[in-house]
Amino acid sequence: MRELDRQDLDTSECARSDPGVGSALGRCAVVGRGRLGTALAGALREAGLAVDGPLGRGAAGEGADLVLLCVPDSEIAAAAAAVAPGRLVGHCSGALGPDAIPGHAERFALHPLMTVTASGARFAGAGAAVAGSTPRALATATKLATALGMRPFAVADSDRAAYHAAASIASNFLVTLEAAAERLAAAAGADRSLLAPLVRATVENWERLGPEAALTGPLVRGDEETVARQRAAVAERAPELLDLFDALADATRELAAKPAPAPAPRLRTVHTVADLRAALAPHRRAGRTIGLVPTMGAFHEGHLSLIHAARERCDAVVVSLFVNPTQFGPGEDLAAYPRDEARDAALAAAGGVDLLFVPPVAEVYPDGFATTVHVAGLTETLEGERRPGHFDGVATVVLKLFNAAQPDIAFFGRKDAQQAAVIRRLVRDLDLPVEVDVRPTVRDADGLALSSRNAYLSPPERERALALPRALRAVERAAADGLAPREALAAARAELAAAGVEPEYLEAVSAQTLRPADDFFAQDVLVALAARVGRARLIDNVLVPAGDRRPEHGRQALECNA
Ligand code: AMP
Repeated sequence: MRELDRQDLDTSECARSDPGVGSALGRCAVVGRGRLGTALAGALREAGLAVDGPLGRGAAGEGADLVLLCVPDSEIAAAAAAVAPGRLVGHCSGALGPDAIPGHAERFALHPLMTVTASGARFAGAGAAVAGSTPRALATATKLATALGMRPFAVADSDRAAYHAAASIASNFLVTLEAAAERLAAAAGADRSLLAPLVRATVENWERLGPEAALTGPLVRGDEETVARQRAAVAERAPELLDLFDALADATRELAAKPAPAPAPRLRTVHTVADLRAALAPHRRAGRTIGLVPTMGAFHEGHLSLIHAARERCDAVVVSLFVNPTQFGPGEDLAAYPRDEARDAALAAAGGVDLLFVPPVAEVYPDGFATTVHVAGLTETLEGERRPGHFDGVATVVLKLFNAAQPDIAFFGRKDAQQAAVIRRLVRDLDLPVEVDVRPTVRDADGLALSSRNAYLSPPERERALALPRALRAVERAAADGLAPREALAAARAELAAAGVEPEYLEAVSAQTLRPADDFFAQDVLVALAARVGRARLIDNVLVPAGDRRPEHGRQALECNA
């Protein structure tokens, strides 16, 4: 079997990018009103093709340029005989090649490698076995497949039975196995819904790790005693399953004996937007969820928590690593900012990242770059007030990263709470089709928020820096005691002063608008601070939820971020 790409084909169109694919293919008649015919006719119509049908068997395909027969294998010849000559005729059997269609010069086979039930089918992302009696017939089958978002691949007639058997094992036999598991589980009083998450995780592991590494359980551990007990239980509760159990146990023993191949390094590093898009295209075509974690590198557990969240929520994870010059002001630490791409790449690989996007500055800001994104209002307080232009740089680069990766979900840290608010507003105002997922601040055991800039701190400076989380805990305590923001800030200022730390700012603002907050009741309040300790300019914050003054809640807020 060989996946086809565009060079293989006598065609210049790619269905997804060519709005004229329908007209390139002409009118398509779908014959067969069963599940497959109904699903294919609907999906082709949705893809923009002119479709007749699904039509009843015996339809001649009058007015159609091509006719797709979705009938049982034994009825293909009769259905083909009814089709008026001069049309391209194809069938959807996995077992038969194009020659199963007699009496038509140009014929093709298009077998969607997808299960079709009464509720339909998800063709996008699935494979499609294609074959044709002429280059034009093959190109037609391929165009139909790509119009449905499928991945066409060629199967030689001599490989067809093996291919079809593989499809049966992957799909039907799996259902047979699950039905057997269901029967035994029921005999033990367990509901089938309990099996479903296990089945899903197993299939995902098989896909991600390969069969040897995905195997778990007593047979893999060589625990034959447990297997013998299982076998006895099968013999007693469901003897009709014993042969199946024995055959599968033997096959599993054989597989477990094979050494697991070293997992393929899945991380790929790309440097250009074009390469990033090309690498993401198959994921997008397959309808996979894409997650983006924008970073400036020098990874710590804060970054890794975002990567972990992305891995949990998304099928494909992109991490960008770009020390963005436009968000640094004159005299800031752009040149000194810690950089270690090799270490970051190793951590990203260990974290299950698929793509590391490391663009050079000229890729992001080519000569003549003239556009800036400005989010008004939210950027005029706190960090924005002290670092003019900083959030313009952030908003511009984040929008560029969103356009480059087109993620479904983008992950940010609450450590940079104002940045998160600015990005949420950017997304809302510009209708960007991305969900912004903001995750809690990760702290060291001593409470200091992790930051790439902590690397600048000497041990005594680090001790002094602990005044920042202490100050924020003082805020939480004050809020829990029913004090007003003004008093909470005074308590925080006292903690900072005791350590000789002078804040650049220490403010209580509405978490939504970032305007000063006078009480802790009407809104969620963000208490944010910035302070220089030695060479390091540190920022930190705490969110005090509206109206909830219970001390446990306050304490939990800072601790659960740790
Ligand atoms: P940076 O590399 O500093 O631009 O940070 C990249 C992302 O990591 C941003 O969304 C930050 O908010 C987030 N981040 C940085 N430090 C932490 C932390 N300690 N906990 C959680 N997220 C963080």
